[in-house]
Amino acid sequence: MQLLDKLTILADAAKYDVSCSSSGSTRKGEAGTIGSAAKSGICHSFTADGRCISLLKILMTNNCIYDCAYCLNRRSNDTPRAMFTIDEIVQLTMDFYRRNYIEGLFLSSAVIASPDYTMELLIQVAQKLRYKEKFHGYLHLKAIPGANPALIEQAGHLADRLSINLELPSEQSLNLLAPDKTRTNLLLPMHQIHRGILERQQERALMKKAPLFVPAGQTTQMIVGASGESDLQILRLSSALYKKFSMKRVYFSAYVPLNTDSRLPQIAKPPMLRENRLYQADWLMRFYGFDAAELLDEANPNFDPDYDPKIIWAVRHPEVFPVEINSAPYQQLLRVPGLGIRCAQRIVSARRTGRLDFEDLIHMKVSLKRAQYFITCKGKYYRIQNPEPDMILRALKPSARSPYEQLNLFDDWQTVQPKTNIELLDADAYFPKQTATGTAPQPIACTRQATCLPPVFSSSLSERSRIDERLSV
Ligand code: SF4
Repeated sequence: MQLLDKLTILADAAKYDVSCSSSGSTRKGEAGTIGSAAKSGICHSFTADGRCISLLKILMTNNCIYDCAYCLNRRSNDTPRAMFTIDEIVQLTMDFYRRNYIEGLFLSSAVIASPDYTMELLIQVAQKLRYKEKFHGYLHLKAIPGANPALIEQAGHLADRLSINLELPSEQSLNLLAPDKTRTNLLLPMHQIHRGILERQQERALMKKAPLFVPAGQTTQMIVGASGESDLQILRLSSALYKKFSMKRVYFSAYVPLNTDSRLPQIAKPPMLRENRLYQADWLMRFYGFDAAELLDEANPNFDPDYDPKIIWAVRHPEVFPVEINSAPYQQLLRVPGLGIRCAQRIVSARRTGRLDFEDLIHMKVSLKRAQYFITCKGKYYRIQNPEPDMILRALKPSARSPYEQLNLFDDWQTVQPKTNIELLDADAYFPKQTATGTAPQPIACTRQATCLPPVFSSSLSERSRIDERLSV
């Protein structure tokens, strides 16, 4: 099989894994090495549904011995199979890196032969990149559940980030939909990585040159909508993962109906809006000081698809509002719908020099459409005095003509172009041969249509910045 064919199959197979994002790693280039890692440098664009572009994101193989009900690569599916060799992945990574197409590698894999064997293959790729090619750039490896702890330890010394996908929010769902995996196999490596990170941090506090261990932390992902758990259960679990394992991110992936299986729900489209609400709640917990128990409870275990979680929380807590912009503490400002972190910081800073009114807030780009019901300036509301919760919800309800919709990268992609854009590119042009004079290969103009998003990488900087602009959230 040609390398390009493998790339087409294995880049496409990796697109359902969303557990990669900004690198969180800062490392300068060093003499004799190639590449560097920057906190904001790797995934500087996000799709509307949270997926990132600009890593080389591939599976080593999609040939799996497991049979997870929701997965396209499960062993019972009749799907084209492929497997990269170690050298092929190394060559692709280095070639793409040198051409500035990518800023790092996200390498995952289906389970081939056994978890240990698969993990060993991933480690060999990382070793070759780090030691032979002196690759100093960003590396995100998948830790294979069930692999020997010694192998996880080894991977942790090579990769910037490790991730293990929790996949399903409860043990019952895991037993039902992914019977080859066990909760223990998933949680043990998370615990090991967490412990390793803490130990290495302590070592580095005493000795600056102590070796790094997963410097960009670990992440995980959960599939939303493949099983019957409520948003409350998912949020509680994600909150526990942040607290217990110091997760950098818990990603949510709307269940994409790819297989026919009586154990799976019959849905026409992935629940993208639900995924989006969970991300909003996740953001509120990580940056706005909310707790999972404040956002949902047993009486209201799921988010309202029409409103973001902050609005619903605010409407249910009229005793907290209105908040006076000129005197409220920063933490209270953060709880106002329509006020983000940056706006709250601007307000706190601006009011040191004078009292603010609504004109000032407009200049600060505060969304008064939402905030007006929850704030006063100099003791006055913007337009409506003491608004009732019902009235607020009616005013903020999305109209029937423009309902909220979370965009789906894959639907758009499949509608416009059923295959990956790699196939749209001329293979020889894609891997231009080095000239005798050593001229560096030029960036290649991408032929994909304007509405079509790249699943793997964008081919030129101008192209990429155009996509960034279109996708920025
Ligand atoms: S282990 Fe399960 S989810 Fe992962 S590739 Fe295999 S079948 Fe798919």
